[in-house]
Amino acid sequence: MISVRDGQNHILSGITAVVAPELLPVTRALGRVLAEDFQAPIDVPPADNSAVDGYAVGSADIPATGTRELVVVADLAAGFVFDGALGVGQALRIMTGAPMPAGADTVYPQEIVERSGDRVRIAPLAKGANVRLRGEDVEAGAIVVEAGTVLRPQEIGLMTSLGAWQLMVRRRPRVAVMSTGDEVAEPGTPRRPGQIYDANRFTLRGSIEQCGGEVIDLGIVPDDRATLRGRLQEAAADADVVLTSGGVSVGVYDLVKEVLAEIGAIDFWQVAMQPGRPLAVGSIAGTAFFGLPGNPVASLLSFMLFVRPVIYKLGGRRTLFPECWQARALEPMSKKVGRTEYKRGILRWSGSAWEVRTTGPQGSGILSSMVAGNCLIVLDEGRADVGAGELVTVEPF
Ligand code: AMP
Ligand code: MG
Repeated sequence: MISVRDGQNHILSGITAVVAPELLPVTRALGRVLAEDFQAPIDVPPADNSAVDGYAVGSADIPATGTRELVVVADLAAGFVFDGALGVGQALRIMTGAPMPAGADTVYPQEIVERSGDRVRIAPLAKGANVRLRGEDVEAGAIVVEAGTVLRPQEIGLMTSLGAWQLMVRRRPRVAVMSTGDEVAEPGTPRRPGQIYDANRFTLRGSIEQCGGEVIDLGIVPDDRATLRGRLQEAAADADVVLTSGGVSVGVYDLVKEVLAEIGAIDFWQVAMQPGRPLAVGSIAGTAFFGLPGNPVASLLSFMLFVRPVIYKLGGRRTLFPECWQARALEPMSKKVGRTEYKRGILRWSGSAWEVRTTGPQGSGILSSMVAGNCLIVLDEGRADVGAGELVTVEPF
C-alpha cells in the first residue's frame, strides 16, 4: 500500500520535462499556459490623463476659498495631445482619457463648474483630483504575468494593454486515452448482452480537455494482448501521456500490466484510498503511462489525483493542485483509518457557514454521485468516522 501523497510525489518527481513553447496570436491564447514571464515594455497609462470629462487646470489657479473665473483655451478629445501649455488663468476642456496638458495637474468634473461662453467658474478642489497618473496601473519593467500562469481574459487584456499581440505559451500536452475490456461497447453502436456502454473514455476525454490537454482518442481495446500492445505502442509514439482504464485489477483478463511489462516499465500500486485502489504507473518508450481502474468513479478520481497534476506539470503550470476548503459535515460519515477516502459531496453556503453532505450511495461504480455532487469530501488517512458537525476538507469540482 502506498499513500496518495507519496504516490503523487513519486509520480511528479518522474516528470522533469515541460512541453515545448509555441507562439500564438493573443486571440488564441485563452486557457493556455504562459511560457515566459511577461514584462511590461511601457507604462500604463502611458501618460497622466483625465479620469473625467471636465476642465484641466493648474493647481496654482485653484482658489483657496470662494470662486475664480478661468478662460477655456481649447477642447481636447481622448486620443489627442494638447500642444501648448496652460498659462495662468487658463483652463482646457478635456475628455476622459485625454492626456493632461503641460501646466495642468487637476481636473474639474464638468458637473461642478459653471460655464458661460469661453469662461468657467471654479471653486476649491484638492490638487491632483481626477487625474490618472502615468504608470498607475502598470509600471514599465514590472512582471505583470508570471510564466506558468493559465491565461484568463483579464491576463490577456492586461498584456494587450501593454502592446502584446502574440504570446509564447506552452503547447497542449497530448494525452492518449483508451478503454479496455470486451464488456465495453461504443456509445452509438448496438450493445451485446453482457456489455456496458463506455463511460470512462468520455469522463477522461473531458477531464483531459478541462486541464488543458489535447485528446488522442484510441477507442475501445478488447481484452486481446496483440491489439492492446499495438495500440499502446502507437499511443506512446505521439502522446506525452498514455491512459487506459480498466484491466488493472487482479483478474484473468487483466492484460494491461502484462503488456506494459513487455513494452515498457510498470509498477502496480495499491493506493491507500477509496474509491480506486489499483493503479498502474509506468512508461512506454519514455512516455508516462497510467492504467486507471475500470470503475467509473475510481477512474475519474484517480485521474484527478494522479494524472491531472502530471498534465499540469508537463504543461508548464505553476500550480499543480486545487485549493481545498473546510466545511461543516451535515451528517455522520463512515471512515476507515489508514486510507484516504473521497466522498462525493454537495457543498452549500448556509448563510453563515459552508456545509456539506454526501450525495448518497458512494460505490465506485456510481457515476451519478459525481453528477449529483459539486465537490469531493477528502477524509485523510489518519481520520476515523466523522460525526455530524465536524469540519471536513472539501475540494470543489
Ligand atoms: P476492470 O478494472 O477492468 O476489472 O473493471 C472494473 C469495473 O469497471 C467493471 O465493472 C467494468 O465493467 C467497469 N468498466 C471498465 N471499463 C469501463 C468503461 N470504460 N466504462 C464504464 N465502466 C467500465
Ligand atoms: Mg476489464
